[in-house]
Amino acid sequence: MQTVLCCSEVDIRRHISCEVCDPSVSGGYDSIMNQIVVCQNVARSEGIVQGVLTHEMIHMFDYCRNEVDFKNVDHLACTEIRAANLAHCSFLSACAQGDASFINIRQRHQVMLPDMFEHLQAIF
Ligand SMILES: [Zn+2]
Repeated sequence: MQTVLCCSEVDIRRHISCEVCDPSVSGGYDSIMNQIVVCQNVARSEGIVQGVLTHEMIHMFDYCRNEVDFKNVDHLACTEIRAANLAHCSFLSACAQGDASFINIRQRHQVMLPDMFEHLQAIF
């Protein structure tokens, strides 16, 4: 297992980066650099940035505290499911990202699982 860089504390300037990315992604987590990337050309609202940071911080936490190996498919699936469930499946987080409201929460929850599998397919 590779050496984990700087997991003891978070320095926002060091551990979070805003970069121009491929338009198909809104963010990512680089376990080698222990750095979250927010795609400034895609994540263009506060709600989307909040969703990206929440999702990627769960990956960072799993890497630093649970010793996730991102080359292990089982580990990767586990951390992606955790991130999707905690960051995107709750009503409040979905509302903050503009994905859900009291009017469409039932429909939003029904599309959450296919969205998660689409995210996993993009990784594999
Ligand atoms: Zn993810």
